Amino acid sequence: MHLTNDQLNEYLDGQTDDRARIQTHLDSCDDCAARLATLQTLFAELDSLPDLALTTPLAARVLLNLERTPRLPRWLTLTSLLQTAAAVVAIIVAAPLVLDYLPTVQAPTWTDTLAQIQIQWLTWIDALAAIQAPTMPEIPALGISSLSASLVMACAFVLWLFGNRALLRNRL
Ligand SMILES: [Zn+2]
Repeated sequence: MHLTNDQLNEYLDGQTDDRARIQTHLDSCDDCAARLATLQTLFAELDSLPDLALTTPLAARVLLNLERTPRLPRWLTLTSLLQTAAAVVAIIVAAPLVLDYLPTVQAPTWTDTLAQIQIQWLTWIDALAAIQAPTMPEIPALGISSLSASLVMACAFVLWLFGNRALLRNRL
């Protein structure tokens, strides 16, 4: 049985109970000794960066965790859901103002434009269903047409997309 990354990490941190057993294995196993050396190099490089000195143990653990669980952390999913809800609420609040403004800018192709937007929206819905993204909450009945509701949902979705892009970029 080789040593786990956790065991090597704890050994380096001096936080292990069976230091003697780990030492014995390291003396007889080139594989684990090499992995320990790699971790030591990583620690040394992180220590050599003044700004990152305090985050050394955290950074090493994050790297190890990333190897083990290559999926989005729970907090990111939760943040996305909250963000979606906030965007939908904001759009619903703003919708009456937008709807008041709409009749004054009617153009000959307005109906065609709306129809195209709705088709685009339905395409997005299909794409969303295909990638199993979080589903959008239903808009409460406000006495507005389904076309207007589609517009509102499209705006909310765009906001949601931009928010997630920002989130993912911050994570890197
Ligand atoms: Zn080993």
